Amino acid sequence: MQRAEASSALKLHSPGECGTLCHRWIQDTHVERDAVSETGARAAGRGILLVVAGPSGVGKGTLIRGLRERHGGIEWSVSCTTRAPRRGEVDGRDYHFVDRDEFLRMAREDGLLEWAVVHARDFYGTPRAPVEEALAAGRDMVIEIDYQGARSMRAALPEAVMVFVAPPSIEALRERLTGRNTEDEDALLRRLRSAQTEFEHIGMFQHLIVNDDLDEATGALEAIYLAERQRITRAHWRELRDELLEDLEA
Ligand code: ADP
Ligand code: 5GP
Repeated sequence: MQRAEASSALKLHSPGECGTLCHRWIQDTHVERDAVSETGARAAGRGILLVVAGPSGVGKGTLIRGLRERHGGIEWSVSCTTRAPRRGEVDGRDYHFVDRDEFLRMAREDGLLEWAVVHARDFYGTPRAPVEEALAAGRDMVIEIDYQGARSMRAALPEAVMVFVAPPSIEALRERLTGRNTEDEDALLRRLRSAQTEFEHIGMFQHLIVNDDLDEATGALEAIYLAERQRITRAHWRELRDELLEDLEA
């Protein structure tokens, strides 16, 4: 029933009938919402998957740490990589450092949700089981990934919330990369070259954060996460709707 028809019908009928018509109108309107929420929306009870991409050195790790300090329940997906550990990196905490054979074995046996060759050199991939288990159990998870992995992730899990982190300028990106002091000249150049391809794919993301002021950018990531938590899910709105309609008729 259209809104205009519903309101003219309400004028013609008694208060009892009015309640029933209201009920019908709310139900009819929600048929559309139902159809929308059937596609893409996170099913009730599942955890949130936050996918964070952007060029190396832009501050993804720093922002994710900030978010997890504010929301301790968000789990971090530990990626597998064939690159060598940097000084201070811990196997199993920062990455699972594996050799190429081991990596390819995992990929072949479907143990990775996605994987890609990043910086035209090393393999990086997301282990499947921890992500699937967390989401199914209603636990939220954050993943740091390149644009190729983000694209595969969206195909595998359409409910994923896709965030791109951009630098305020190339100069700032270069300064952060060199300031971090983790890369030799060759690795630095490869990371800057990959930044170009990352920027070319910004359009496939749902959210964009320019990481200029760190506090503000962390707040933006938190706002995206909180908005996702408030997203209406099928079971939740049906339950609430039925409760409200029952009260209305009582
Ligand atoms: P990524 O995980 O994207 O490779 P990192 O989180 O390691 O990047 O950050 C790279 C460097 O930039 C780190 O030294 C970090 O402290 C610094 N950094 C991150 N965000 C900012 C910011 N908003 N302003 C200045 N420096 C930053
Ligand atoms: P780094 O070698 O600087 O730690 O990481 C390089 C880049 O690899 C990160 O900026 C991120 O974009 C990407 N990356 C990290 N983990 C994964 C992963 O599991 N899958 C994919 N596809 N990319 C990843």
